[in-house]
Amino acid sequence: MKANSKFDYIIVGGGLSGLHLSYCFLNDKYFKDYSILIIDKGNPKKQDNYFSFWESGAGNWDTILKNKWDKGDFFSSKGKVEMDFSDYNYKTLSSYKFKEHVKKKIKKNKQFKFINDTVLKMRKEKNNVVVIGNKRNYYAKHIFDSRLNNKTIKKIKNYTFLNQHFIGWVVKTNKKKFNKKSFVFMDYRIRDKNSTAFTYVLPFKKDVALIEHTYFSKDECDKELYEANIKNYLKKYYNTTDFKILGSEAGVIPMTTYPFHKDSTKNITKIGTAGGWVKPSTGYSFTNCEKFSFKILENIKSGKDLRIVPKKRYFFLDNILLGVLSKYNYRGETIFYRMIKRNSTKKILRFLNEESNLLDIIKIIISMRSIYFIKVFIKSLYKRTL
Ligand SMILES: Cc1cc2nc3c(=O)[nH]c(=O)nc-3n(C[C@H](O)[C@H](O)[C@H](O)COP(=O)(O)OP(=O)(O)OC[C@H]3O[C@@H](n4cnc5c(N)ncnc54)[C@H](O)[C@@H]3O)c2cc1C
Repeated sequence: MKANSKFDYIIVGGGLSGLHLSYCFLNDKYFKDYSILIIDKGNPKKQDNYFSFWESGAGNWDTILKNKWDKGDFFSSKGKVEMDFSDYNYKTLSSYKFKEHVKKKIKKNKQFKFINDTVLKMRKEKNNVVVIGNKRNYYAKHIFDSRLNNKTIKKIKNYTFLNQHFIGWVVKTNKKKFNKKSFVFMDYRIRDKNSTAFTYVLPFKKDVALIEHTYFSKDECDKELYEANIKNYLKKYYNTTDFKILGSEAGVIPMTTYPFHKDSTKNITKIGTAGGWVKPSTGYSFTNCEKFSFKILENIKSGKDLRIVPKKRYFFLDNILLGVLSKYNYRGETIFYRMIKRNSTKKILRFLNEESNLLDIIKIIISMRSIYFIKVFIKSLYKRTL
């Protein structure tokens, strides 16, 4: 580590993407002589969230998982589908544990420095980029920046977009109400009939679960609405009004085809949500953060462009699916029911991971067939925003 404030790489933001990227640098011998600074403004609230993802076989985070499941249920007014997660286990961990786990490893290594400071701006200066912090300036050859600024949030609205907005409670019930071995992937039985909205249940113990009410729609709702739906769900499907709230989480995740990669420059690569690492049609980004961090390291080694550009085929499909949900928001329940009922869970998860072959992609599209897809597809031929 150099004594001054000049580094090979600076990672702005020690959140999910910044720490995944740091973890990759840490485990790759090629970078053992590189100096890396992580700057984070810190979060005084120390809020804990739960991050979920699916993964085939063992993974890097198995020692810190809160729980994992090999089966789950999908419910809708049209019926129940039992989903088989044995090929891709559904895994959940606490964001706090994840961050502590990675930071602990980083702190043991002299190559890394972690600083609490708020980054105000960045500018190019000769062969370096200067990061202007609240406390001081920092210099590097290349910056990875996970800040999502308000300008971008405004620009997203000119593209096909929805928000995934939700409130979740970790509840402890007075009796054993949950099956720890199975989770609820999506439940549409209680929802606003004009929207794509569902409940999601992750049992951690027989009497403790995270239960979330989620919308895929443009505008956030009043806090009371999500909360009333959670209470209603617990009453109706777990027959309980007697529970304690151990913790809560809330989020608004952009689901959009905004071309985030165009916000990167030669020396500043946007990462995480700000780099377009959230899958537009699902709102998940944990797996992408891991996958794209590896990709960035590979690209550095082979001298390639560091931006993660969406794959054309999946970008097109995400745009259509988001377009249908955006224009016919109430149709979400039917679309997801058809997809999940008519395809194996393995095939769907591979598709959402963007790892399907062309034949499987076609089969999935046909399984969701509806006039709305055709209408939106035709519109996509002459309009960018659906
Ligand atoms: C409650 C919640 C639950 C979620 N659950 C899931 C899930 O289950 N599965 C999934 O795949 N995705 C989930 N997501 C979506 C996504 O994975 C997260 O939003 C993820 O945190 C995005 O990573 P990121 O690095 O882009 O942003 P963040 O993790 O938010 O990291 C950004 C970091 O930058 C720092 N920062 C910001 N501005 C500055 C500045 N000016 N100077 C210095 N530092 C700064 C912040 O302090 C923060 O630590 C969830 C999101 C939320 C909000």
